[in-house]
Amino acid sequence: MVSGKNIYDFSSVVILGGGISGMGAALLAADRGYNVFLSNRDELDTAFAKALQDNKIPYETGSHTVNKILSASLIVKSPGIPDTIEIIMQAKEAGIPVISEIEFAAAHTQEIIVAVTGSNGKTTTTSLLGHVFQEAGLDYTMGGNIGKSFAQQVQEGAAEYRLLEVSSFQLDGIENFKPHVALLLNVTPDHLDRYDYKFENYLDSKMRIAMNQDQDDYLVYNADDEAIVAALESNKPKSQLVPFSLTRELEYGTSLINNIIKVAIDQTPFSMSIEQLSLKGQHNTANAMAAATTAKLLKIRKETIRQSMQSFQGVEHRLEQVLKINKVQYINDSKATNINATFYALDSMEHPTVWIVGGVDKGNDYSQLFRLVNKNVKAIVCLGTDNSKIVNAFSGCVDQMVETNSMEDAVRVAYKLADAGDNVLLSPACASFDLFENYEDRGRQFKNAVRGL
Ligand code: ADP
Repeated sequence: MVSGKNIYDFSSVVILGGGISGMGAALLAADRGYNVFLSNRDELDTAFAKALQDNKIPYETGSHTVNKILSASLIVKSPGIPDTIEIIMQAKEAGIPVISEIEFAAAHTQEIIVAVTGSNGKTTTTSLLGHVFQEAGLDYTMGGNIGKSFAQQVQEGAAEYRLLEVSSFQLDGIENFKPHVALLLNVTPDHLDRYDYKFENYLDSKMRIAMNQDQDDYLVYNADDEAIVAALESNKPKSQLVPFSLTRELEYGTSLINNIIKVAIDQTPFSMSIEQLSLKGQHNTANAMAAATTAKLLKIRKETIRQSMQSFQGVEHRLEQVLKINKVQYINDSKATNINATFYALDSMEHPTVWIVGGVDKGNDYSQLFRLVNKNVKAIVCLGTDNSKIVNAFSGCVDQMVETNSMEDAVRVAYKLADAGDNVLLSPACASFDLFENYEDRGRQFKNAVRGL
C-alpha cells in the first residue's frame, strides 16, 4: 500500500508553471527545505505571487531562463504545459527527470491514495466519494484536479486517506504514483490535441492510473466501456480488477438489476435502489456504482454508504437544479463541454426540454445526439458567436430553433418557449470561451438570468 518512493534527487527543484498545482509543489518543496525555483511564462495570480514572497521562494514570470531550469536536479511540470515545448525537450535530453505535481506529492507521503479518473464524471464521483468519506468519519483530504492540489495538502499535514481527482495530463507525468484504489470511469475522445490526435495515446494515458498498482490494490473500472476493456485485456495491471456495469449482471463486481445497484465483491453484498440516489441520470448511476464499490472495498458500513448516496447534494454546474418557475424546471449543466456529457444530460430528461446549446465547438459530431434530441427536445436555443454547425445539424430534428448570443437573451427565449411541465436545460456540448470566461462563469450567468426572470 506504499503510495510513493523517494527516488528523486531533490537538491534543486524547478517548478514549471505557477497555477494551482505549481504553487502547491513550490510550497511543499520549500517546506521540505529544498532549493526551489518557480518559473512561469505568464504573469502570476497576485495571491500566488504573494504566497511565494511570503515563503521566500524565488521565481520568475514572463519567460523561462533556460540555464537556470537546465541546472535543476528535478523538474515539476504543471499539467497545462505540453511535453513538446522546447524547454521540456531540452530538459529531457539533458536527462533531468520531468514529473507532475501528483508524482512529486506522492513521493512525500506513504498515505493511502484513492484516485479517480475518466473523461467525464471525475468531479462528480470524487465529490460523491468525499461525501461518503465525510459521513463515515474517515480522516481524509479531497483534491488534486479539483480544489487544492495534492502537494499543498501533503504540505499542510497528514491524513489517512488522500482522495484525488486526476486528469490524463497529471497521469502523463507519473513514475511511481500508486493509488490503493483507482477508479476508471470511462474513456471517450477528449483533449486529443495533446495526444497527436490519436485516441490510443489518450487511452494509454488514462490507463497509467493502474501502472504501479500491485496485487493488494484495486482497479474499479467501467466494464461497459469497450476501450477500457480492450486496454485491460492487452495490458493487464497487477491489481485486483473490480468491474461495474449498467448493462450486465456480474458475478463479481457491481451491477444494475431492475434498477437496483448491487455491489457483490465480498460476503456482505450491498444493494440500493436508484430511486434512492440523490443524483439522477444513467451516467450518475454509473458514478454512484463506482463510488459505492470503492466505499465497500474500504469497508465503509453499508448504512453509511446508503445514507450518503441519498443525501449528496451534487456539484455546481453538473445537472444542477436551479429553480422552478411557472412549473418549468431550469437545469444548469454548464460543465458539459463535450458531446458525451451532453448525451447523458439529454438522456436523463424526463420531460419535454428546451435545450440551450453552443459555444466553441471542439470538433463535435452532433449526429450522436439525434436520437435523444428527437425524443426529448422540443426546442433549441443556440448560444454562441457561430451557431451554424448546430443549426445545420438539428434543423430537421426540432420545430423551433432560435439563435442568441447572450445568456440573458437565451434564457428569455427559453422562458417563452417552455410550457408548464417542461425543462429548460443548459448543456452546451461546447467550450465557453467565445462568450464567457469559463464554464463556471457561463453557469453563473445562466443562474443569474434565471433568477432574474
Ligand atoms: P469531469 O470532472 O470528468 O469533467 P464532471 O463530474 O465535472 O466530470 O462532469 C462533467 C460533465 O459530464 C457534466 O455535464 C456531467 O453531467 C457529465 N457527466 C458526469 N458523469 C458522467 C459520466 N459518467 N459519463 C458521461 N458524462 C458524465
